[in-house]
Amino acid sequence: MAGCERCWGDAFSRSYGTGRSQAECYQEILLERKDTPCSPRDQAGQFWDEENQCDIRDGRRKENSGVAANSQTTPQGQNAQSSTSPVA
Ligand SMILES: [Zn+2]
Repeated sequence: MAGCERCWGDAFSRSYGTGRSQAECYQEILLERKDTPCSPRDQAGQFWDEENQCDIRDGRRKENSGVAANSQTTPQGQNAQSSTSPVA
């Protein structure tokens, strides 16, 4: 899982107020929230993909590792079915 955008943003505010590093505050915030974790949407922040309901940072990682050869092999149905993944 990628880092949490929401906590990272809050860590920035905290570091600004306390003079400590953002990374240190981020770890502290994660600990504070471990019992009430942020939603996937909160964690993705600006990287949230509304259409696919996922973190695009995770999606990109998958694309990069596998699907290069499949990109040109859809003869039809590109308009309506773009949201379904061809292979599980
Ligand atoms: Zn968070």
